[in-house]
Amino acid sequence: MNNSFSDLSRRSFITKSGFALSTAALGSALPIDSIYASSDKRRGQLGIALVGLGGYATQMLMPGFAQTKRCRLTGLVTGAPEKKIRYGKEFEIPDTHIYDYETFDRIADNPDIDIVYVVLPNSMHAEYTIRAAKAGKHVICEKPMCLSVEEAKAMISACHENNVTLNIGYRCQYEPHNLEIIRLAREKPFGGARYVQSELGFVIGDPSQWRLRRDYGGGALLDVGVYCMQAACYAIGEDPIAVYGQEFKTDPVKFGEVDETVAFQMEFPSGVISNSTTSFSLDAHRLYVNYQDANKHVEIQPNFNYGKYRGSIAGKPMEFPFINQQANHMDVVAQSIQEGNETTTTGDVGLRDMKIIEAIFQSIANGGVRIEIG
Ligand code: NAD
Repeated sequence: MNNSFSDLSRRSFITKSGFALSTAALGSALPIDSIYASSDKRRGQLGIALVGLGGYATQMLMPGFAQTKRCRLTGLVTGAPEKKIRYGKEFEIPDTHIYDYETFDRIADNPDIDIVYVVLPNSMHAEYTIRAAKAGKHVICEKPMCLSVEEAKAMISACHENNVTLNIGYRCQYEPHNLEIIRLAREKPFGGARYVQSELGFVIGDPSQWRLRRDYGGGALLDVGVYCMQAACYAIGEDPIAVYGQEFKTDPVKFGEVDETVAFQMEFPSGVISNSTTSFSLDAHRLYVNYQDANKHVEIQPNFNYGKYRGSIAGKPMEFPFINQQANHMDVVAQSIQEGNETTTTGDVGLRDMKIIEAIFQSIANGGVRIEIG
C-alpha cells in the first residue's frame, strides 16, 4: 500500500467499516425454502424487504445482495405486477413475501423480514419509514432522509417508539477512500482539517422525472447536495453551526419547480469552513480536504459515485480495493442490529442534514445571508 494506511489502522478500518464482511460473495442463489427465517437466522442473516423497485433498488441494491453476508433479500414491495413476477422469480421470493403499497402494512406479520429498505421518491420516505416502524421493522431509508426537519423528527420518534433502528442510505461512509477521510478526521495525523471542498453534480435527463418536481422532493440540493454536506462533516469531524447558500438557474423552464445548481458554505465550531457545489446541470464528483499540517491534503476524484474511486493523500496515490458500497452498508446495518450498537449513518445524522438543508434554503430565500443552524 502506497499511502498512510498502516496495518494497524487497516485492521481497525476493516472492523469498524465491516469491510471484510462484504468482500466474499455468497455464491449462487439458495433453494426457495431456505429463504425462511429459521435457516437464515441460523446463518446470522437478517431479511431485508425493498420498498420501491426503481432504478436504485434494481440496479444497485439487488446486485449488492450477491455480496452481503449478514443480510439477504427476503421481501419486495411494488405496485407493478410485472416487477412482482420478474424479481420474485429472479430472487426466489415467494408470493407471500411480495407486497404492494396497499398491503404493505401486513409486512408486520412476516418474521422473515427484519429490515424494510425504503427506496421510494423522496416525498414518500417519511410515510413508509413510519409505517415500517409501526410494523415493528428496522428501517433503512434512502437519502435524502425526507423533506423537512419536522418529518425527520417524526420518523425518528416512530422508530424510537417502536423500538426499531433507523439508518439512512449514506453509502459513501462505507467506501474505503471516504473511510480513510473519516479516519484522518478522527486520528488527525496531519492535524485537523482546515478547509474542505466538495462537489457533486450530474446533467439530468428526462424533464418529466420526479427529481424535477417539487411535490416529490426534487432538486439538486436534496438529491445530491446531501453527499457534499455529509463529506464536509465527516472530513472535519464536526457538525456545522451556520450556512450560507446561493442558487443559480440557467434553465428556468426545466428547473421551474426545483433548484438547478446550489453553492453553499458551512462554518464549523473549530472555525473550519467548507465550500460545496451541487447541480443537476454540470458533472462534478470531487472531495478535497486541506489539513493544518501545511501542504498535506487529500483529493478524491471521482468521489461519490458507484465505481472505482481515485485519490491522492499527501501527494501519494490512495490505493484501496474496490468494494460494493451498497453491500457493505447493508451488512454493517445488519451487524449493528445484531450487536445492538449504532452505525455512523443513523436517523439522527439524517436529521442533522435536514437542518442544514432547511438552513441553506432559508439563506437562499434571504439573499445568501448567514443562517445559524438550530
Ligand atoms: P426511481 O424513480 O427509479 O424509482 C422510484 C420507485 O418508486 C419506482 O419503482 C416507482 O414505481 C416507485 N413509486 C411508488 N410510488 C410512486 C409514486 N407515487 N410516484 C413515483 N414513483 C413511485 O428512483 P430512484 O433513482 O430509484 O430513487 C429512489 C430513492 O433512492 C430516492 O430517494 C433517491 O434519492 C434514492 N437514491 C439513492 C442513491 C444512492 O446512491 N444512495 C442513488 C439513487 C437513488
